[in-house]
Amino acid sequence: MGVAPEDADRLAGILRDAGSVVVGAHVDPDGDAVGSTLGLCIALQRLGIAAVPVLAGQDHAPETYSFLPHSADYRRAGELETPDVFIALDTPSFARLGDAEALARGAAELVVIDHHPDNARFGTLCLLDAKASSVGAMLWELLPSLSITPTPELATCLYTALVTDTGRFSYSNTSPAAFRIAAEMVAAGVDVAQVFSAVYENRSAGALALIGRTLERVTPVDDGRIAFSWIDDDDYAQTGALKAEGENLIDEVRTLGGAQVVFLMKHTDGQVRVSLRAKAGADVGSVARSFGGGGHTAAAGFTFEGSPDELLDGLLQALRETLA
Ligand code: AMP
Ligand code: MN
Ligand code: MN
Repeated sequence: MGVAPEDADRLAGILRDAGSVVVGAHVDPDGDAVGSTLGLCIALQRLGIAAVPVLAGQDHAPETYSFLPHSADYRRAGELETPDVFIALDTPSFARLGDAEALARGAAELVVIDHHPDNARFGTLCLLDAKASSVGAMLWELLPSLSITPTPELATCLYTALVTDTGRFSYSNTSPAAFRIAAEMVAAGVDVAQVFSAVYENRSAGALALIGRTLERVTPVDDGRIAFSWIDDDDYAQTGALKAEGENLIDEVRTLGGAQVVFLMKHTDGQVRVSLRAKAGADVGSVARSFGGGGHTAAAGFTFEGSPDELLDGLLQALRETLA
C-alpha cells in the first residue's frame, strides 16, 4: 500500500509553512514510538526545522532506548506552547497521546502517521498504512519525498522502531518491504549488533527476576490454546525492576508452544493493564476494543478498572469466542 504521493506532497507543504513543530507518540512508549519520534525530529532538523519531541507524561526516553541519538531532547508536553504543526506518530486516537493531547488539538495542522488498523483519522492530514510493519518504516519511505538523505543517526532511530515492532523480524508484519527497508537502513550506517545489544542484551538483574516471576505464573487454559500470566507492584518492588523493564514481558509469555492467544495482566493501583497477543489467526484487537482499548489484530491492549480476579472470567470468555 504505502503512503500516497499526494499525501507526501501535502506533508512537505505543511512542513514548508510551519513555524513550530512538535512530534509526539502514544503513552507507554515502545521502540516504534521512541525511534520514530527521535528519527523524525532528526530528519526535520536536516530541513532546518527545529522540531521538539514529546512522550506522554515524561521528559526522557525509557531507559532501554536512552542509547538512541538525541534521546535527551524530549520535553514535557505541559511546558510547550501550542505549535503550528503537531505530528502524531504510532498513535491511533487523541486519547492515546496522553498529556500531549491538548497540543495536538490546538495545532493548526495535525499530521497523523500511523499503522494501527483502528486509527480514528483524527488529523487534518492522515498518512495511514495498516500494512506497514512500523511507523519507523513509513517514515523511512517518506524521506525521498521530503528531500532528506538519511544519516547513520537517523537510520539508527528508524531501524530501532522497525526491529522492535517486528519482534526482530519475526512477527507476521515482517513483510518483504520490512526486510528491504532494513537493508537500506543498514546500508545507511546502522550498527545492527549495537542496536541488538542495547535493546535486548541490556537487562538489569531485577528485570531478569521479573521475567522469572512472569514465567513461573504462566497458566495455560483450554488445553493450552490460551495462556496468561500476571505481575503487580509488589513484584517491581521486590525484584527492583523498573516499570519500563516490564514493557516487553508479554514476549516471554508468547514463547509457550501451542498457545494461540496469550495475555499478561499488570495490576497497579486498582487498575489492570492488559497486553494481548495472537500467535495464529485470532483477532485480539477486536477483543481489546470490546474492553475499551485497541491495537492491531495480533498485538493489542486495554486498561481495566478493577483487579485481575474481576477481569479474568470475562476476558477468557471473550477470547474463547474469537478462537471458536
Ligand atoms: P502493548 O501490549 O502495551 O505493547 O500494546 C500492544 C498494542 O495495543 C499497541 O499497538 C498499543 O497501541 C495497543 N494498546 C495497548 N493498550 C491500549 C489501550 N489502553 N487503548 C488502546 N490501544 C492500546
Ligand atoms: Mn507502538
Ligand atoms: Mn508501531
